[in-house]
Amino acid sequence: MRYNCCSQTFTISRTADKWYVSFTIKADKIPPLYHSVSETIGIDLGVSTFATLSDGTVYQLPNSLKKAKIKLGKLQYRHRNKQLGNKKLGIKSSKNAQKFYRNQAKKHADIAQRRRDFLQKTTTEISQKYAHIRIEDLNISGMVANHKLASSVVDSGFYEFRRFLTYKSSIYGTIVELVDRWYPSSKTCSRCGHVQPMPLQARVFVCEACGNNCNRDLNAAINLASVSKNRVRMASPELTPDQEKEPTPYADTGNKF
Ligand SMILES: [Zn+2]
Repeated sequence: MRYNCCSQTFTISRTADKWYVSFTIKADKIPPLYHSVSETIGIDLGVSTFATLSDGTVYQLPNSLKKAKIKLGKLQYRHRNKQLGNKKLGIKSSKNAQKFYRNQAKKHADIAQRRRDFLQKTTTEISQKYAHIRIEDLNISGMVANHKLASSVVDSGFYEFRRFLTYKSSIYGTIVELVDRWYPSSKTCSRCGHVQPMPLQARVFVCEACGNNCNRDLNAAINLASVSKNRVRMASPELTPDQEKEPTPYADTGNKF
């Protein structure tokens, strides 16, 4: 398809030896879409299952992404003693060390790309299908500020998932709401409302009051969907797509060249 347009601003960026050009064009707004599901849907995000929806739909991180992460971990372990030299101490970096760091940066970029692709596809699919979406309001900025938690949170993609869903709400006409982060979605029975302690490793919620037996994530997702209005607020896009700055877990390694 040929397409003529003119754009005034280009942004050129570089990530691990690859150059990217991004630009914006003026285009007509996509007409409001018809959502096949109008009921409120709750989404529970987790480490073992990426996203569980209150209707039972499950999204898993692609295997290729998991494999790429394991490969990178092995590579890093094998080269754990490589040093990139030190200007102050007058130590030169070896050719092999340079090669390793460049390779590592490339792999990090590849993983980030795959994760982003997965998150974009998933959030588009959800935004097209469901009219009314509820997710937990995790204190992500606080978690990212905490250095120990930062990499695992950024890495898991929760932050971007929520951000993508929120900015896509204006494109697809969805309502995205955040549930108060103190609401005990995992500890509440989705059938009778009974609240009980729930150990982190327990995968099934077995209600002490009514005997309800439900997958942990699904139980939480149903609770998020049915929580009372006073624990819910509208999600506001903190960043628009063109202002977006992707959190780069590999910033430490990517800047060495
Ligand atoms: Zn119960």
